[in-house]
Amino acid sequence: MRNEIFHYLKIAAEAAKRGEPRNFYLGCVGIRNDGAMVFSNNTKTQQPLIETHAEFKIAKRLTPESTLYVARILRNGSFALAKPCKLCFRTLRARGVETIFYTICDGEYGRINVSEVDLKQYKYRQ
Ligand SMILES: [Zn+2]
Repeated sequence: MRNEIFHYLKIAAEAAKRGEPRNFYLGCVGIRNDGAMVFSNNTKTQQPLIETHAEFKIAKRLTPESTLYVARILRNGSFALAKPCKLCFRTLRARGVETIFYTICDGEYGRINVSEVDLKQYKYRQ
């Protein structure tokens, strides 16, 4: 299970690196309930717009019961915290996404069982 999760987090990191260079890259891969795999990455911008977030961009292409893997990768190749922000989380939940895995640091990931989360308690940081 753990190896499978890192496998997909690495795919998400590859998707992230297809974005424009910046201090970090953020990307995600979604496995839909029909088995299709979809990808997204952050859009570089000076504006703090939700539309630039990889998780927000991928949401409309996900199906209920999807699993989402989100990776933040630094320029030195290390994983960093990629927990979705509250707005992205709310959007993914409305879409029916079941499980979200995200990088925390090298060798460590977090898991969110979406339906079990109290939105009021949801925090971007650990
Ligand atoms: Zn977000």
